[in-house]
Amino acid sequence: MKFNAINLVQLVHVATLSACLSLCACTSSTHLTQAASLGLAINSTQMETVLDQPGELELETINSADWRVDLSGLLNLEHPKAIAAGLRNREEPIQIFAHVLHHPKFGYFLIDTGVSEKVVNDPEAAGISWLMRHGMHLEKMTLHRSTANIIQSLPQALSGVWLTHLHIDHIIGMPDIAANVPVYAGPHETEESYWLNVFVRSTTDRLLENKSPLQVWQFKPDTANRFEGVIDIFGDGSAFALHVPGHTAGSIAYVLRTKHGAVLLTGDTSHTRWGWDNGVEPGDFTRQHPNNLASLDKLKALVARHPAMQVRLGHQF
Ligand SMILES: [Zn+2]
Repeated sequence: MKFNAINLVQLVHVATLSACLSLCACTSSTHLTQAASLGLAINSTQMETVLDQPGELELETINSADWRVDLSGLLNLEHPKAIAAGLRNREEPIQIFAHVLHHPKFGYFLIDTGVSEKVVNDPEAAGISWLMRHGMHLEKMTLHRSTANIIQSLPQALSGVWLTHLHIDHIIGMPDIAANVPVYAGPHETEESYWLNVFVRSTTDRLLENKSPLQVWQFKPDTANRFEGVIDIFGDGSAFALHVPGHTAGSIAYVLRTKHGAVLLTGDTSHTRWGWDNGVEPGDFTRQHPNNLASLDKLKALVARHPAMQVRLGHQF
């Protein structure tokens, strides 16, 4: 999920906007990238063979902050199911999560980053531009547990951060994350061009400033033809990255074999519980609706094949 485009556009003079549009098809970040040092490309059959067996991972999903945003960003209100349900735009309560993953051999990882107290208390100093501060309505965010607090509670240093995607609300914990912690993201995530990036990119770059290059998951085509690509992250069948483009070009879902069974983290392929239950993709916050919907269908089909799997959505319990 990202800021409300309509509110943001209202802040910008039409002439300035036109000039920017004509001059710039901005990529989402200029931050350096490199091939990920972790991960083995496999096919989805190899993954699904082990999914119904419990694993050794431990996973805690933490609500770092509550937030309120427009439902029209979170859900495609033009979808026939949304129309039939009588859904109209309104403010919708959501959460900003950080998922803490522990692997007995490889240590602690954060999946997405929660919210840094620095972003809430002094967003300008944390690198959030004036436009983004207003466009995102940071005043509607209530911090519960900062990223720093989450990291300090761990018995050892973070081994890495795995991002579902590069939208601001998924990287506003980065100011609390040490510069030497490797950060992983999906393919083409920094390269996707979009006019709105004219206003977003400086904030994205500031939040990643001084961090090491983003490590890009190295997918290969899924020979079982169910996903765009599947990676066995540790090479031991415990944690998997799925390439699910649409919300952004490099959107990633994660499947984790915990002691209590497999858990799917959808990322923002589905922000909301209603969207997941009804198979309706996100609204204005999504970049490519048909691809997002196709990826959502693939994740729902995965869960249908493995009904014991828990599902944790991008922004709601
Ligand atoms: Zn989001």
